[in-house]
Amino acid sequence: MKSRVIDLRSDTVSQPTDEMRQAMFHAEVGDDVYGDDPTVQKLEILAASMIGKEAALFVPSGTFGNQLALFTHCDRGTEVILGEDCHIFEHEVGAASIIAGVHLRTLQTVSGKMDLQKIKQSIRPEDLHFPETSLICLENAYSNGGVVDIDYMQEVYCIAKEKNIPIHLDGARVFNAATYLRTDVKEITQYSDSVMFCLSKGLCAPVGSILAGSTEFIEKAKKKRKLLGGGWRQSGFLAAAGIIALVKMTTRLHEDHENALYLANELKEIPGIKVDSTNNHINLVFFQIEKTNRTPEEIEQIFKENDITIFAPDENGNMRFATHYWVTKEDIDKVIMLMQSILIDE
Ligand SMILES: *Cc1c(COP(=O)(O)O)cnc(C)c1O
Repeated sequence: MKSRVIDLRSDTVSQPTDEMRQAMFHAEVGDDVYGDDPTVQKLEILAASMIGKEAALFVPSGTFGNQLALFTHCDRGTEVILGEDCHIFEHEVGAASIIAGVHLRTLQTVSGKMDLQKIKQSIRPEDLHFPETSLICLENAYSNGGVVDIDYMQEVYCIAKEKNIPIHLDGARVFNAATYLRTDVKEITQYSDSVMFCLSKGLCAPVGSILAGSTEFIEKAKKKRKLLGGGWRQSGFLAAAGIIALVKMTTRLHEDHENALYLANELKEIPGIKVDSTNNHINLVFFQIEKTNRTPEEIEQIFKENDITIFAPDENGNMRFATHYWVTKEDIDKVIMLMQSILIDE
């Protein structure tokens, strides 16, 4: 057997658990486009109730779910307000311009938050020259590892409601955010009209995300999902793993967070490493190797030779490690020892 590899690149690499594999093997399935896959139905009902929305839809990825939300909420040529560094703007290939055909109005963020006054000022008044503001997007947890407080979300929600503008929450890691805030996830999602979250990150499912919202919104989204080629047939095989992700994995994310804190604290002790502690809220650790004689490729290679998969540092030595179900405290000790030897050996 291949020796076990410690993969720190992302929580997306987390493989399904044995229980998920069993559930997938035995899943009762049907044709979900015809609406008769019982396992998908079970997943969608469970997801909707856990996330605090009327209805939910199983979609192929987080990107798909976010873009489907924009496509469903917004008419072409309307404007969406969102943070300049959010995933929808930065990491989704500019899809909003192609799929929903919307205009993105980005605002500066500080620790994942847009300025409330700026949001108000950016909502377009009725004017012949202006596009209509059709949506505001929030993200929590932020993909920089930070969690945004619920008060901020409530304030944005109130601003939006006053103008009758819906809010979409990119909650790829919203269960991590809830774990960090020690609250039920519904406390966070109540300040959104639609929410997307990933089953395939820290929750360990192999594939899939959920888009949730009102029954009317999800009915509309379902038709658009089909239009985009996301109408799945026996997707109950994947939904079976998603159900376990929701039932079993949402309650253990604190372990990943504790491991990430442990990793951050151990990295801090190594001379030449600067850890970014400001956003150390969830399972992501951002740090910088300040000085080394080795190239980024050499560092990646040394880790690889020790059965640890990482992304090479960028040109400024910045790195990100992610913890997840398949990374234990002992694994972290191994990572730290290797990092020490790399930086001290040279
Ligand atoms: C990962 C992520 C997504 C996209 O999910 P994919 O399944 O990789 O498409 C969207 N938003 C945020 C904040 C993410 O971290």
